[in-house]
Amino acid sequence: MKAVYLLPCSCGQKVPVDAGQAGAKIACSCGQQLNVPTFRALRELEQVVPVAAAAVESGGGWNAIRGMMFSFGLLVSLVAAVCTCYHLYMFSQLLDGGESWKQSHLQEMDLDVDYMAPADALADFQSMATKGLTIDGVPPWSHVAELRDSSRRWLIGELIALAIGLVSLAASLIGIRPARPR
Ligand SMILES: [Zn+2]
Repeated sequence: MKAVYLLPCSCGQKVPVDAGQAGAKIACSCGQQLNVPTFRALRELEQVVPVAAAAVESGGGWNAIRGMMFSFGLLVSLVAAVCTCYHLYMFSQLLDGGESWKQSHLQEMDLDVDYMAPADALADFQSMATKGLTIDGVPPWSHVAELRDSSRRWLIGELIALAIGLVSLAASLIGIRPARPR
């Protein structure tokens, strides 16, 4: 395990250096260039074993890769979970062929008629009398099957993403040990 020594600067701070830097120059955060002493003199300096570095070397702590896997896993799982809920809801609404959806839509149209001005209602009635009972454009429930299929495809993708996210999250946490003070 690499020993880390504290090289005092005239500004009062202590700059951590290791034996590999013996004889080299190092910049303190105050801007001053410090000469790192030779290896022999280095060993006279105050020595520290940073907890984080010790943990990484023993393989049981946090490091950049674990952190990235954890953040990635968390983000992907959260987004996938939210999307899955949304599409599960959509799917459940469309499972009966969109019947309840259609009924609520028709109810809204009924309400529209109730609040129409008499002249508008009359114009509507006349157009229905000539054209028959039609709805302008494509009624939303006519593509229920399409919506249901796309919801199903989305769901499959989201569940895969959720699995990847959770696996990544779990993998980042496997083998984590609390860093022991030495
Ligand atoms: Zn300094």
